[in-house]
Amino acid sequence: MTTPDFGQAQRVVVIGGGPGGYEAALVAVQIGAEVTVVDSDGLGGSAVVTDCVPSKTLIATAELMTEFSGAPELGVQFEDHEGDPAHQLTVDLARVNARVKRLARDQSDDIGQRLESEGVRVVTGFGRLDGPGAVEVTLPDGGTERLEADAVLLATGAAPRTLGTAEPDGERILTWEQVYDLTETPSHMIVVGSGVTGAEFANAYLALGVEVTLVSSRDRVLPGEDADAAEVLEQVLTRRGMNVLSRSRMESATRDGDEVTVTLTDGRTVTGSHCLLALGSVPKTRDLGLEEAGVALDDGGFVKVDRVSRTSARGVYAAGDCTGVLMLASVAAMQGRIAMWHFLGDAVTPLDLGQVSSNVFTAPEIATVGCSQRAVDAGEVPAETVRLELAGNARAKMQGVRDGFVKLFARPGTGAVIGGVVVGPRASELIHPISIAVAESLTVDQLAHVFTVYPSMSGSIAEAARRMHHSPLD
Ligand SMILES: Cc1cc2nc3c(=O)[nH]c(=O)nc-3n(C[C@H](O)[C@H](O)[C@H](O)COP(=O)(O)OP(=O)(O)OC[C@H]3O[C@@H](n4cnc5c(N)ncnc54)[C@H](O)[C@@H]3O)c2cc1C
Repeated sequence: MTTPDFGQAQRVVVIGGGPGGYEAALVAVQIGAEVTVVDSDGLGGSAVVTDCVPSKTLIATAELMTEFSGAPELGVQFEDHEGDPAHQLTVDLARVNARVKRLARDQSDDIGQRLESEGVRVVTGFGRLDGPGAVEVTLPDGGTERLEADAVLLATGAAPRTLGTAEPDGERILTWEQVYDLTETPSHMIVVGSGVTGAEFANAYLALGVEVTLVSSRDRVLPGEDADAAEVLEQVLTRRGMNVLSRSRMESATRDGDEVTVTLTDGRTVTGSHCLLALGSVPKTRDLGLEEAGVALDDGGFVKVDRVSRTSARGVYAAGDCTGVLMLASVAAMQGRIAMWHFLGDAVTPLDLGQVSSNVFTAPEIATVGCSQRAVDAGEVPAETVRLELAGNARAKMQGVRDGFVKLFARPGTGAVIGGVVVGPRASELIHPISIAVAESLTVDQLAHVFTVYPSMSGSIAEAARRMHHSPLD
């Protein structure tokens, strides 16, 4: 990489040490900037401390439980200490949660060490803009420090949305940040919200042996995801015993001793031992001096940015959840890097959401990339589609996998792959060849001609591509 010569090093101040912030800091220091990261709650941000890393660690235990539940079909049986068949597999939630927290702490420490070793200065405290060219930090001891900056990157993230009628108490009525303080397994978890976060937790607690009711205000779970994929997931969840309440909107959640009652807007009630609120996120953009510095917000309070992460104020960039562009750690990190490449004059390609791959960590997992079925059905994107059930895949049969499919979208005429959906175990890994095809504009024939291992789940991706072949004689 070439390093532009600015004479004196450019001073970059990053507010927020999550993926949007720390990944940008690493890029900026690599290109020769003098970089300070200001963070109030732990490096790695919510992604590492409370959201992405903890939830996926909890889900790793849930995955193991799901795999165990399929063991008898594959001829594996468990015996108790006297050789009798064992009927129950249990989870020690206190140990699981202790592991979750330890792993998150370690990951946060690793990020701190990496930043330090690369020469990034880290200041612990709450940062706010003091005009577009400076940041004032309130330090933990109450003192302040003023940091002059040639560019500021806002990467302050978002927080769980709560409702006045369902105040989290950290014990029985919980946000997703609070569930890791549980030391006993809930007897009945009511999960409110069936977006990605709600679906992931509902699926995880069900796999951990908890009775789960999922309160969903929409017709089906995962309203923002591929409808076919969501349908498969909902079928699997109900088959495994989850109580899914569709078209049910929460009015309030109240606690009475060890019980939580969720009241729905139509008057019905659900009573459980715990309630997890998964109602979406609100941006952390208040009290940051944004208005005074000329940084425009949208109606939801998110920072308005363009595709190279510029805000409306010169020299002020923003990345990640505080922009609301697409609330993923991978997108936050890319927005942050793009901001620094742009500011420091390095080669930069504007953010392209059409290439983002994402995953819902349920069982089965749901991974998507590129154009969506909704866009195809709405006539926004002309595409040919093939859907291939995993149940016909030899490896899937061997592993006892029945639920899931591969779906590909390709441009009519050219056969260029423009999107795909994978529903199945480890779909998050299986989506990668389709992501490469989308990013590199490969055709279905090119995808089909690549060798896949036999037997393998990825064989279904090549097979789906093969089914989209247009003979030159057609
Ligand atoms: C339960 C859950 C699971 C998720 N799982 C995934 C997943 O599997 N994959 C994925 O890609 N995404 C996942 N996400 C989304 C992902 O966590 C976010 O998109 C990501 O954290 C956004 O990164 P960020 O840098 O914008 O903000 P954050 O990670 O929120 O970091 C912002 C940091 O800035 C700090 N801060 C805020 N204001 C200030 C201030 N004024 N001064 C100093 N510091 C400040 C905050 O305390 C925080 O440390 C998940 C989200 C949730 C809720």
